[in-house]
Amino acid sequence: MEAISTLPDFLGLQDPDFQLIDRYRDLLESETPALAHAFYDYLLAHPVTAAVFRDFSRARLDALIQKQAEHISGLLASRLDKSWRESMRRIGALHHHLGIEPSWVAGAYILYWRHWQKMLQEQVPASDRNLLRDALFRLLIGDLMVQLDGYARASRETDAERLALFDVLLGVLAVPRGDESPRPEGLLQQICEALPRKSANVRLAGYVVSSAMGEILTLECLAGLPLPALQIPKIAGDPCWLALESGQAVIQSVDDPQAPEWIQALRNRIEEIGIFPFGAEDLRGVGLIGVREKGYFHRVGSAYFDAFAHLGELVLLLRNQSLRDPLTALPNRALFLDRLETARDQTLRRERLLGVALIDLDGFKQVNDRLGHGAGDQLLQAVVQRLQAQLRAGDTLARMGGDEFGLLLPGLERLDDLEVVCERLLAAIREPLEIQGEAVGVSGSLGVTLYPLDDSDASTLIQHADMALYAAKDAGRNQFHLHTLALDEAVQTEVAKRVLLEQALHEGRMVLHYQPIVASADGVVGVEALIRLQHPEKGLLAPAAFFSALDHPRLARTIGRFVLDAALRQGAIWQGEGLPLRVAVNISTRHLLDARFLEDLREALANHPSVPPEQLEIEITESAPLLNLEKAQTVLKSCQGLGVRIAIDDFGTGNASLTYLQHLPAHSIKIDQSFVRDMINDPKDLAIVAAVTTASRMLGLEVIAEGVETADHAALLAKMGCSHLQGYLFSRPLPAEDIPAWITRFRPAPQLVGALPPMDVLPPILEGHLLRVQAFLRALRQENPFPAHVLGEDAEEYCHLGRWLRGEGALLFGQSPDFAGLLARHERIHRFARAAKSLLDAGDMEGAMHQGNLLDLENRLLLAELLAMTGQRRVAHPIIAGSPE
Ligand code: C2E
Ligand code: MG
Ligand code: MG
Repeated sequence: MEAISTLPDFLGLQDPDFQLIDRYRDLLESETPALAHAFYDYLLAHPVTAAVFRDFSRARLDALIQKQAEHISGLLASRLDKSWRESMRRIGALHHHLGIEPSWVAGAYILYWRHWQKMLQEQVPASDRNLLRDALFRLLIGDLMVQLDGYARASRETDAERLALFDVLLGVLAVPRGDESPRPEGLLQQICEALPRKSANVRLAGYVVSSAMGEILTLECLAGLPLPALQIPKIAGDPCWLALESGQAVIQSVDDPQAPEWIQALRNRIEEIGIFPFGAEDLRGVGLIGVREKGYFHRVGSAYFDAFAHLGELVLLLRNQSLRDPLTALPNRALFLDRLETARDQTLRRERLLGVALIDLDGFKQVNDRLGHGAGDQLLQAVVQRLQAQLRAGDTLARMGGDEFGLLLPGLERLDDLEVVCERLLAAIREPLEIQGEAVGVSGSLGVTLYPLDDSDASTLIQHADMALYAAKDAGRNQFHLHTLALDEAVQTEVAKRVLLEQALHEGRMVLHYQPIVASADGVVGVEALIRLQHPEKGLLAPAAFFSALDHPRLARTIGRFVLDAALRQGAIWQGEGLPLRVAVNISTRHLLDARFLEDLREALANHPSVPPEQLEIEITESAPLLNLEKAQTVLKSCQGLGVRIAIDDFGTGNASLTYLQHLPAHSIKIDQSFVRDMINDPKDLAIVAAVTTASRMLGLEVIAEGVETADHAALLAKMGCSHLQGYLFSRPLPAEDIPAWITRFRPAPQLVGALPPMDVLPPILEGHLLRVQAFLRALRQENPFPAHVLGEDAEEYCHLGRWLRGEGALLFGQSPDFAGLLARHERIHRFARAAKSLLDAGDMEGAMHQGNLLDLENRLLLAELLAMTGQRRVAHPIIAGSPE
């Protein structure tokens, strides 16, 4: 304000006046402490002013008196300059906030004046007295002025703020946007949106609401600042729940270290948040108002926000009404469903049973027809009263429509409990009634199912209760029926397995054991991670105890994520110990086909960067891709893209044919142990093992035989060319910490390493290759069409020989100095093929034939070299079998 900035001029205070004050400053401030005390004595002597300081401690009062003394000294030195004026304006504003009236302040200034008057009279020489008195008078008037100015500004600001709030409320309520009959939620939303816009201090406005019986507040509306999807669980000390429970507004400071995280995250943007509770029956909520200034709510008052909360209450009340049956005031079908959802969740957490029942009155229609609808209504109300008298606090009785009621019985411990309740309810309905002076008899039929024995979603549970209700009616009414699923023993066992696994996961009792996988070429190549459950009484349980639950919709992904993480963590530890083991993990079909699987895999790999992706192998059971081949293919290709290896587990147990192997980007095939176990006695099993092994080798895949228990098995497998073995012969699954020592001790059995060569898959491969080359040459001469796949980009890898070279060839002869030459020759063959074809297309028949001849020559050389190389090393096939010792 310009006028104030020249305040000393207006007051006629000039340098000589200030110099005069300076000269007598020591004298004038000599008794400031006494003056400050006198000032407070004055304030405390008046009842209205004393009331302001009523709750102040002695120490706080002393501090204020000290401040006052400083003020007197400061004023004398101030020359009423800019910084002084600003601080005095702040004090004025503070007085406004504290409710200290200007008149009291003016009164206190008289004390200063009297004090100095006395001094002037007694201690200042007459020559200076009048001039000094005049200067001091102007100084005091000036100081008071500035303080009042600060007070007035704060008052104007507060009024403006109140006006803005009022404006918002009135504006929205009087002239709502849009519809003629706006939804109450819409009004609340408009208020929330307008508050941060119109108020100078409010930066955030919104509200959260708890659903039926819910113990979680969910954000329903928010304006001003963004907040993450807010879910506020009922935790002791949470300010929102505190406000709800006390029914009183809570003002929460944002820098309070006790404040919930989401509030602390608002630091630097708001200073405090006002929490205004409202509630109606089942539904409750709180309004949230975030402001930039501490003390805001105190200053402005909370009346406006209370009004906002009242509106919230209205909204919830209306919502509640729409969820209730008007005749009986019971929850309607919609609210029943909502509560059923909540009760399902809670049941699971509390490991109890939830009864979900439907009751239908027998003979209601007759009463309605005979005595009229009024009597029917009375009957319903009477029955409701009786039923309610039988229920416990957490139970829900709802009217589903007509004479049908829904019932939720949470927290049951046993089936017997349910029977007792049902009997009691039916007996209550049966009691004779008198309506309109007539004795009326009705009975009820009740159908019920038990969650989670009946592990279904909410609407299926109701459907099952309904089926049971019909069964009760069919069986002659006036009785109850339990849905069979809930009684089925097999179902109960399944549920028990799931609960067992769920609890163990929750309590961190799942562990991985590791079983070595061995190959002759490198000794131990890796381990398979196998999950175990640490049972408090039964000890360590293998998957047989909970196998089906591993693929449960709710658990499959959790387990998969746990196993990936735990196995990679262990892999990293071994890596760190200089033991680069390949770790295979089993992934359930459900997790593999889950949209988030790749995300989970990437995350696990990223969390353990020291393990290279090719050290991880995921084992998927053979039947997984059969469920959705296209999806499995896409996912597995992406895994391959990440560098992760893929094994097809349990091969031979499902319906998968060998041709289907070609459609999957797998690296290994694991022959199921059931075939391995019986192959010595059962020729059919032997044939399957031999066929799978041979096919895998020809396709360049690694074959792992599982369940190798004896040296005979190992020797036989080796003869068939099975490259990798896993089984008790070598080791049972071991705790991770036992693996390094086991590996150190492990020696492949020497008698098997030098055994006879396995059935040779190379001759048919070479034969095939030769025939394809001949067919190609004939195609060049246009005697027949080109064979498939010879010209494609991946022709080298696709062809018979290419697969073998990449797989078994590399495994057996990769170390040989001639091997690279072979690969190069093979590549050249395919290059010649492409060149020949393009010359042919360009019309250069002669050139094409020349390339064809080169190709033929290369192929002959290649075959000769291959025979020479394999002939030299007939014995060096991957065979190991032996025991660790
Ligand atoms: P699988 O993947 O085929 O695992 C091989 C099973 O054969 C393991 O049983 C292993 O202990 C057992 N085994 C190994 N060598 C021999 C042997 O010489 N003789 C006999 N009789 N058995 C042998 P385990 O650990 O009980 O696992 C059973 C199945 O549970 C696994 O079969 C796999 O399908 C599943 N599984 C294991 N761990 C996990 C996991 O982490 N996640 C998922 N989703 N499934 C898992
Ligand atoms: Mg496996
Ligand atoms: Mg297996």
